[in-house]
Amino acid sequence: MRVGVLALQGAFREHILMLEAAGATAHAVRLPEQLDGVAGLVIPGGESTAIAKLMRTYGFYEAIRECHGSGMAVWGTCAGAILSAQTIADALPDQEPLGLMATTVRRNAYGRQVDSFEADLAIGQLDLPFRGVFIRAPLIEAVGEGVKVLARHRGDIVAAQECDMLATTFHPELTGDLRVHRYFLEHVIGAG
Ligand code: GLN
Repeated sequence: MRVGVLALQGAFREHILMLEAAGATAHAVRLPEQLDGVAGLVIPGGESTAIAKLMRTYGFYEAIRECHGSGMAVWGTCAGAILSAQTIADALPDQEPLGLMATTVRRNAYGRQVDSFEADLAIGQLDLPFRGVFIRAPLIEAVGEGVKVLARHRGDIVAAQECDMLATTFHPELTGDLRVHRYFLEHVIGAG
């Protein structure tokens, strides 16, 4: 299965390694043409303002929306979860979300970089707790109808799925635990 990882800024290399380890053929997507034939796209964590700016420069807003419309699954981690949302609660001017998933997301909801943390998460779809690495994480504040909450941390939504869209506010690519990547390949791609 061919999957792409948006490689404009942020933690894209780690995702490529994890997806390959989980059995997919993964490549870095730096230009919209590289979305051709891709069954799923990961939008990685990083800095959503920087990624948004580069997405606009290279024409990714139209390209990703179009490919998603024709069946490409999308998984946003952290900054990627911000960018794939319907609404960014505290958006800066210029910070347009892709609007792919019926979520409202608040940036840096847990404070500054020093407030980054790790926590064991109970994800219903996985049999054992998953170590969540939260780095200046956003919060999924609200979800629309049709969005399934996959995990919460202290009541806050940290993972959600809407058909072939997945959002996690933490970083599974930094753990060496392939289960969320496998979940994306097996249960999100093709679920549209
Ligand atoms: N706080 C970052 C942002 O707003 C996201 C952090 C991350 O992706 N680890 O883009």
